[in-house]
Amino acid sequence: MTASPAPGRSGLETASPAPGRSGLETPAPGVPAVVDGTLVSTSPATGEEVGRFPVHGEDEVRAAVARARTAASWWSGLGFNGRKKLLAAWRKTMAHRIDDLTGLMHREGGKPVDDALIEAMTALEHLDWAGRKAEKVLGPRRVSAGLLMANQAASVEYPPLGVVGVIGPWNYPVLTPMGSIGYALAAGNAVVFKPSEYTPAVGAWLVDTFAEVVPDQPVLQLITGLGETGAALCRSGVDKIAFTGSTATGKRVMAACAETLTPVLMECGGKDVLIVDADADLDAAADAALWGGMSNAGQTCVGTERVYVLEPVYDQFVEKLAAKASKLKAGAEPDADLGAITMPSQLGIISRHIADALDRGGRAVVGGPESVHAPYVDPVILVDVPEESSAVQEETFGPTLTVAKVRDLDEAVERANATRYGLGASVFSKRRGVEIARRLRSGMAAVNGVISFAGVAALPFGGVGDSGFGRIHGEDGLREFARAKSIARKRFSLPMVIQSFDRTEKTNALLKTVVRRLYGRR
Ligand code: NDP
Repeated sequence: MTASPAPGRSGLETASPAPGRSGLETPAPGVPAVVDGTLVSTSPATGEEVGRFPVHGEDEVRAAVARARTAASWWSGLGFNGRKKLLAAWRKTMAHRIDDLTGLMHREGGKPVDDALIEAMTALEHLDWAGRKAEKVLGPRRVSAGLLMANQAASVEYPPLGVVGVIGPWNYPVLTPMGSIGYALAAGNAVVFKPSEYTPAVGAWLVDTFAEVVPDQPVLQLITGLGETGAALCRSGVDKIAFTGSTATGKRVMAACAETLTPVLMECGGKDVLIVDADADLDAAADAALWGGMSNAGQTCVGTERVYVLEPVYDQFVEKLAAKASKLKAGAEPDADLGAITMPSQLGIISRHIADALDRGGRAVVGGPESVHAPYVDPVILVDVPEESSAVQEETFGPTLTVAKVRDLDEAVERANATRYGLGASVFSKRRGVEIARRLRSGMAAVNGVISFAGVAALPFGGVGDSGFGRIHGEDGLREFARAKSIARKRFSLPMVIQSFDRTEKTNALLKTVVRRLYGRR
């Protein structure tokens, strides 16, 4: 067996000799590479090396899961209160070192420090909520036994699953995996975490700070490497895989998990929409469209990518949006609004979507093909783009927006829903916001805002269709990492025996009367 990280630690210094990705011996700027069997993480903006990590193979992943099994029984044995205290201590540790964390997120992922702060703050809010609410949501509660079973005391409780494997993406390297990690830990599970190969240092930071408050048990472990390491986690016998990433990888993860009937939570891609009603506050809508579409350089699963605007206010909205978008700057400077595109390969997708939109008759009112200058992309606003073009149909994951004119709200809803994805959505409307939000085929919707649902800890987060299934956050997010355990306890004997071969004809006759009275009338 090869070198593996010490239990509970990230193993930052421990390089495994597991075979690396072939043909990648010299790291290109921003592209993680395997050099001498070690994963080298670099800044997408400067190419500076950020850290070196082991490439964990099948055996090491299985060993981590085996260690996690023992840790899981210790952790679950602490009870809700014991875990709440330790999770609060972890939250405090991270909050005090927020500058370290956001600086690292900036260096490794390329996002502006201010964006990193909002992300980290939201993750801490979720951790706080999950730790405090776990007992109320998952602890034993009495339920009514019903008239027929009135002699029973019925209760339900939600014990942990055991060991949860968390596979995370790079675009929100703290908030996204923490949506699974924080809730899974609060529910009483041990976690084995595989961060994206683009952000292993941020993953290691999370695991190392946890190990400071829980030093003796490997309750949260890090495994690092490329996609193969994630695939090994799927085959490792964990009790659930919580996957966040692209829809294409999600399908591979599900196929691998099917072999062992390992349940999966799928948080996949999106093509989120923003609808602007004729009575909307246009300044607020333009501001929100810009934040939804361009923050984190557009690399947001619930980022706005398509905007549908009602005819009477379309021209005014586009004018306001274009004026604001033209002021945004992408670059490495500390005051830049947009950071680097983390994955160099994404630049090609963004360019392809812009070119396809323009080739099909669309117009760029801000930016254009020249806006893509690696590793940055300046804002691009596209109008008159046919619905069948890739910029409208596929996830772009860059700071681009398509804006289209619609006749009325019905057409807006119809176009919004004409996609395989269904993650988040937004509506700006004074009178009909909630009504429209309900009609959108999405897991979440913001009314007169964007992405606001992600910051409300009590609200479940997840999608439909190609955006996945299952939920993180909120009560559903806690239950996602637990199993319902039902207990029916007999309190006293009934005068007649129903569940027995000794049941009499008299009892059967009585049951018929009961059936007619109870269910035949209402
Ligand atoms: P990927 O699908 O490329 O990767 C996601 C994770 O899966 C990474 O850790 C990756 O490892 C790992 N992985 C790759 N191949 C396999 C495999 N065969 N088996 C198991 N794991 C594997 O997504 P990105 O990292 O590029 O993230 C961007 C995507 O994530 C976007 O589509 C975005 O919309 C989506 N996303 C969804 C969110 C949601 O909540 N719905 C939130 C945030 C992002 P490695 O990086 O080492 O290849």
